Amino acid sequence: MERVYNFSAGPATLPLEVLEISSNEMTNYHSSGMSVMEMSHRSKEYKKIFDEAKQDLIDLMEIPSTYEVLFLQGGASTQFAMIPMNIMGGSNKAVFVDTGAWSTKAIKEAKNFGEVKVIASSKETTYNYIPEIKSEDIDTDADFFYITSNNTIYGTEYKSLPKTEVPIVADMSSNILSKPINVSDYGIIFAGAQKNIGPSGVTVVIIRKDLLERSDGTLPTMFDYNTHVKADSMFNTPPTYSIYIAGLVFKWLKRKGGLSEIEKINKKKADLLYDYIDNSKLFSNPVAKKDCSAMNVTFILPSEELNAKFIEEAAKKGLKTLKGHRSVGGMRASIYNAMPYEGVKALVDFMKEFEETNQ
Ligand SMILES: *Cc1c(COP(=O)(O)O)cnc(C)c1O
Repeated sequence: MERVYNFSAGPATLPLEVLEISSNEMTNYHSSGMSVMEMSHRSKEYKKIFDEAKQDLIDLMEIPSTYEVLFLQGGASTQFAMIPMNIMGGSNKAVFVDTGAWSTKAIKEAKNFGEVKVIASSKETTYNYIPEIKSEDIDTDADFFYITSNNTIYGTEYKSLPKTEVPIVADMSSNILSKPINVSDYGIIFAGAQKNIGPSGVTVVIIRKDLLERSDGTLPTMFDYNTHVKADSMFNTPPTYSIYIAGLVFKWLKRKGGLSEIEKINKKKADLLYDYIDNSKLFSNPVAKKDCSAMNVTFILPSEELNAKFIEEAAKKGLKTLKGHRSVGGMRASIYNAMPYEGVKALVDFMKEFEETNQ
């Protein structure tokens, strides 16, 4: 069986090169006589793996020294609670934009810790666009302003940010590392790894240092960012193997030329797919053109029967996991960094063939 093109939204496809390196190193990492999985997180060998992964991420994203970089557990979902717990101690109010299921979950958690103001939502049209936000919409006394930068389920993505003095918190789980961003525009950036970083099990949190002063020291130890900052993400055993693979992905990205180069490739992939859908008489895309995600491309056929037929026949051609999220139906092609251009080309070729035989 050959490898397939896996369009899964997450856990998602990884660079083949990374899988090959890790498989070569599986039983005996760099003559240590053991697998990375078997290493003490306090060992010299592992410390080097960890330090390099962290530094490579800092290099790739050009993270200023006024930020801390943490590798935590509990997924992006734990951050939905951890963020308000840690930084909602000022006015005790936070401002949110509701752009889908992940924002909704974050809103629900924040409500346990203070006042939540949802200033815009695209729920009424099944989240098929990103609401326009102006600076004056954001309460200046809010503790933070929260967005989901890429909406994995619906295929929408923020292309710009409102100007505000309020710290912006962004859930970048599904578009972190897909393009260069200005880290200084944000208070907190976080992302579960299993979409565009590596295997599940590790969550990256990038937090501006001044925000760390907001927690009053009464939080449970594991839920206080300061615990993890002080211990450099080693207060307890970190997800060692996930961090190692993430580190290999960071090195792969560096070899590719970094984020401005990967952005070009991602744009080429997304353009190929969207251009075809836009000109197709059979396939259509429910998302507002200006907000289309470069990472998760959603599309539909005129009937449920055709959707099901397409997904089934695509799978037979080695184009896997194209079913849309159960809440929206249709199809979704997740084309993260690790999805090669050839994979998207193979998908578009198959879509053309399907269109010809299903007029
Ligand atoms: C997948 C996803 C999550 C949830 O991540 P977990 O690590 O499973 O908690 C949160 N936000 C976005 C945008 C996602 O795509």
